[in-house]
Amino acid sequence: MIVYIPFNKPYMTGRELNNISVAHNNLQLSGGGPFTGKCQSWLEDRIGCSKALLTHSCTAALEMAAMLIGIQPGDEVIMPSYTFVSTANAFVLRGAVPVFVDIRPDTLNIDENKIEAAITGKTKAIVPVHYAGVSCEMDTIMAIAGKHNLFVIEDAAQGILCRYKGKPLGSIGHMAALSFHETKNIMSGEGGALLINDKSWIERAEIIWEKGTDRSKYFRGEIDKYTWVGVGSSYLPSELTAAFLWAQMEEAGNITRMRLDIWNLYHDCFELLEQEGCLHRPCVPAECSHNAHMYYLLLPGLASRTDFIEHLKTKGVNAVFHYVPLHSSPMGLKHGRVSGQMTITDSVSERLVRLPLWVGMGDRWAEVGKHVVSFFR
Ligand SMILES: *Cc1c(COP(=O)(O)O)cnc(C)c1O
Repeated sequence: MIVYIPFNKPYMTGRELNNISVAHNNLQLSGGGPFTGKCQSWLEDRIGCSKALLTHSCTAALEMAAMLIGIQPGDEVIMPSYTFVSTANAFVLRGAVPVFVDIRPDTLNIDENKIEAAITGKTKAIVPVHYAGVSCEMDTIMAIAGKHNLFVIEDAAQGILCRYKGKPLGSIGHMAALSFHETKNIMSGEGGALLINDKSWIERAEIIWEKGTDRSKYFRGEIDKYTWVGVGSSYLPSELTAAFLWAQMEEAGNITRMRLDIWNLYHDCFELLEQEGCLHRPCVPAECSHNAHMYYLLLPGLASRTDFIEHLKTKGVNAVFHYVPLHSSPMGLKHGRVSGQMTITDSVSERLVRLPLWVGMGDRWAEVGKHVVSFFR
């Protein structure tokens, strides 16, 4: 009998509905209520940022960041091509040109040694993406940004509760964006947050968040009426979303531990296959601690990956590939520019496969492991 093992299954802590009913009973449903406050304080405490603002999505947080740093048409923003669409789209929306840089073959993060060659007089920002919750080489990236007077916006969509040299991801760049999408470790269906590390940005961030008004100041009693004071949009989520998210945040440590257990079991299981040259396992540099957002394998090539995914499918295991590189997507070709070669990006996008990893999968990791091994035997 085949046991079907899905790629992802959202984990519910059991407290989500209770929190939602509290918000319901309080008759507090629009954004900015007590659950929003709890979630934001939790992020500020855990990550050590000056301010956290909940958003509808990581996409929305990246759009806010693009507005905050004053992106103008023609500005250039350096980023990897091996990332989700929103990393680039948020800046293209404001007329910027995404400049794609190749990734490192070990961490699959932007290659910090190739960033300087991509900088021009129009460069405004660098957007490092912490793939699979493993940090980019942030010391080097921050030094380059400092030297060239650029902003650094961390796309930490996958990086909640991860660290680089002891510092939480999201606390290192000028700003950071988190995702609480259903597929992420801590989630609220759709959701995200903008993290701000320099206090001088907070007031403008709140205005962008609250439809271009100073309503946040009004709610704090700092002014007696609020009005239209800047350009903004509606980026704050409903209190119902925050109520759901709070249940997840309270369990965030346990969720991370349970995911790491599965990740480590996979990692041990495939050690021999790596030694035999069948595949490559993820690489986590010593200075990075990750959150087991993802377990991926790198196969020798596109043909073997296709066969591998098919093999697992016949065994009931849903393994999936990941990004189509942005530099070769229709919009990337139209709006973006490539700096240097994209050799690693192109190769990895054809060879990477992600295995099921979700809290509650129990012993099913071993079933997946068995079928991975049997493919090579
Ligand atoms: C998930 C993800 C996003 C988008 O997150 P949403 O909350 O769905 O907008 C952006 N960047 C990366 C790297 C992601 O993994």
